[in-house]
Formats: sequence, C-alpha cells, structure tokens
Amino acid sequence: MSSQFVLPTFVSRTLQAVVGAEFLDFWAAELGFDARIQRTISRVVARWMETPDTVTLVLKPNSNFPGFQAGQHVNLTVEIDGVRHTRSYSFSEAPSASGLVAITIKKVPNGRVSSHLVDNIAIGDRIELGLPFGDMLLPATTADSKLLFLAAGSGITPLMSFIRQLAVQGMPADVVLMYYVRTRQDLIFAKELGSLAAQYPSLRVQPVYELEAELQDGELSGRPSREQFDAALPDLNERAVYVCGPTGFMNAVRGLCDGIAPAFHAEAFTPPAFVPSTSTGIARLFLSKSNRTVEVPEGMPLLDALEAQGIKPQSGCRMGICNTCACGKASGVTRNLLNNELSVDANASLRICVNAAVGDITLDL
Ligand SMILES: Cc1cc2nc3c(=O)[nH]c(=O)nc-3n(C[C@H](O)[C@H](O)[C@H](O)COP(=O)(O)OP(=O)(O)OC[C@H]3O[C@@H](n4cnc5c(N)ncnc54)[C@H](O)[C@@H]3O)c2cc1C
Repeated sequence: MSSQFVLPTFVSRTLQAVVGAEFLDFWAAELGFDARIQRTISRVVARWMETPDTVTLVLKPNSNFPGFQAGQHVNLTVEIDGVRHTRSYSFSEAPSASGLVAITIKKVPNGRVSSHLVDNIAIGDRIELGLPFGDMLLPATTADSKLLFLAAGSGITPLMSFIRQLAVQGMPADVVLMYYVRTRQDLIFAKELGSLAAQYPSLRVQPVYELEAELQDGELSGRPSREQFDAALPDLNERAVYVCGPTGFMNAVRGLCDGIAPAFHAEAFTPPAFVPSTSTGIARLFLSKSNRTVEVPEGMPLLDALEAQGIKPQSGCRMGICNTCACGKASGVTRNLLNNELSVDANASLRICVNAAVGDITLDL
C-alpha cells in the first residue's frame, strides 16, 4: 500500500473531530502510512558507514516535522524486539530545502539503540522523531569572527552541522576544529573535513589522537592539556568556543578555556555524574492519572525507579536536557540529582530523569 497516501484536509479534520487524533494515528501506523495527525514519522532513504562503527542515516520526515537549526538534536524512537526505545541524536547535516535530515550514530559497546541503528536499520524502515531541541546554535558570523570547535568521538555531529552550514555560506569565519578520537580510523567525516579545509583557508581541522601509534605531519596526540592548547591555540583568548563530547571531556576543556576564551558553549552526550545520595529510605509515589501507588527507593532517579516497576513514562535524553520526561508534581519534595537542590513547590514541572523523591510525592502520571 502506498505510504505517500494523504487524506484530504477536510476528511482528516472531520475524522479527527469524531474519533480523535490518537485513533487516526494508530490506524495510520497499522496500515503502514507515513502520514500522522500528531506524530513525526520519518523513513530511512539512505544509509552509509562513516567508519567501521558509525553510520549516517538520511531520513525523510512526514509533514509534521517543523524543521531544525544547525547544532540541534532530536529524540528518536525505534522498536526493538517489540519494545520502544528513545534516545537523543544530533542532526549532522545543515538544514536544507530538500526536507531531508541526517543523523550520524556511533555504536556504543553493548548499546541497545546505537547497535540497532548501526547494524539493523535499513532503507525503507520507519523511525519516529520528537521535536528538535538544543540551544547551542551557530552565531551570526563575519570574516572577523573567530570560532573554536572542540569535538570528542561522536560529539563531532552537531559541530559538523555547524561546519556544513558555514560552508554553504562560504565559510564566513575563522574556524579551528580540534577533533579528539582514539585512532585515525575513528575520525568521522574525515574525507569531507579534509576537502573543506583544502577548499576554505579559514577552516583549520586538527585531529588529536589518544592511541594512534604513528603520527603524520600536523597531527597531535594526547588528551586536552594546557601545553597542547598553548601550542595549538595561541589566539584562544579571541575565540568563541563550542564543545561537544562526553561529560569528562567537556569538563576538562572547560577548565582549560575558563578565564581565557571570551565565550564557552558546551553540550554533553553522556549523563553527568549524579550527586551521590546517602538516603536509603523508601518513598511512596502516588500516580494521579493512573490512580496507582508505587514504592521506590529515595535517591534513585524517578524515571529509573518507575521503569524498574514496569511503568514506562515518556523519556528522551535521560540527562535533563530534552524535557520529554517532564511531568507535573502535585505535592511532595524532590531532589535534583545534578545540583542537589530541593524542590518543595507544589504544582511544579519535574524532569523525572534527573530528580529523586525525598519522602512521598504525587505525580501527574
Ligand atoms: C543531546 C544528545 C545528542 C546526542 N547525539 C548523538 C549523536 O549525534 N551521535 C551519537 O552516536 N550519539 C549521540 N548521543 C548519544 C545517544 O543519545 C545514546 O546515548 C548512545 O547512542 C547510546 O545509546 P544506546 O542505547 O546504544 O546505549 P544504552 O543501551 O543506553 O547504554 C549502554 C551502555 O553505554 C553507556 N553509554 C550510553 N551512552 C553513551 C555514550 N554516548 N557514550 C559512551 N557510553 C555510553 C551506558 O552508560 C551503558 O553502560 C547524544 C546524546 C545526547 C544527550
């Protein structure tokens, strides 16, 4: 059956009013249509390996997709063995008039979703997308602007979107990319970055290897350090810095740029360490929408605690960025596990992936 089939607007509005959008979306999914009233469904139209463990997927979203800006991310939901899983991924291409979007996924050892996307997802498969999110956006630039992009591993993806966007504009900025990977074969987008650097003298691409045995001319090795930054970035004090990678990498380069770079913007792909909780108590959660009470360990992220009870609230990045898991807290006290702050307000909005109960609470779930 054709997946391009779209109901005339008046028919879909009438049906929606009578039976509801969720009902229509359910049947659209059952019948194999990409069109939905509410949800963004995309279809994989191309895929290729960037490195032995990294794939780029090109997706064609349905008309519900609102578009995105370079540097943003999206929650992607796939079904694996009958269970829906959601993870966040950055757009790796610049926005384009084609309406197509690309994401680039590096396989994490034993990672459920990344392994599925790298090994199993094929052209023609459907992937559900959330709304684009993220505030680390490309600034307006001129030939005098100086930018420093610091990427580690798959953290290159939103920065590649920046570089591709700047290339479309003729590279109107002096850009240095320091790209930290284990070995040369882990460099994602190596060929394209090489060509862009050859084409635009104002773009410098500097690979930095952790484990590469033999270095070629111009390559560096080691983790970020003061000596390395002093040698490679003599004008750090003039560069606005944009960073993406694991939390440890982000914290290390933040320390090196602090007090020197005029601006510092960072986004992490791995959850920050939670503030350890000493509480061993049990809290009762009253879930008002489902009229259910469950007991969970205090100090445990509420999302994990609920999932351990077989309850699956909506979730996304699991690190307090994307807001997908936010739900109302009608009463009770919670602790933010990122900064240890207590929330005592009734009727607050709570990101349950990074908050834990302190005593009994009521959630709008
Ligand atoms: C805003 C945002 C944007 C992101 N963009 C991208 C992107 O463009 N490309 C990309 O490849 N990934 C990206 N990620 C990471 C991605 O969301 C997943 O975390 C990653 O693919 C692992 O998911 P999984 O289901 O395979 O692993 P899981 O099954 O969830 O975890 C398996 C194991 O791997 C560890 N782990 C989880 N995530 C990571 C990670 N990122 N690095 C190392 N170990 C990890 C877990 O602690 C666990 O031990 C992004 C994350 C965020 C928050």
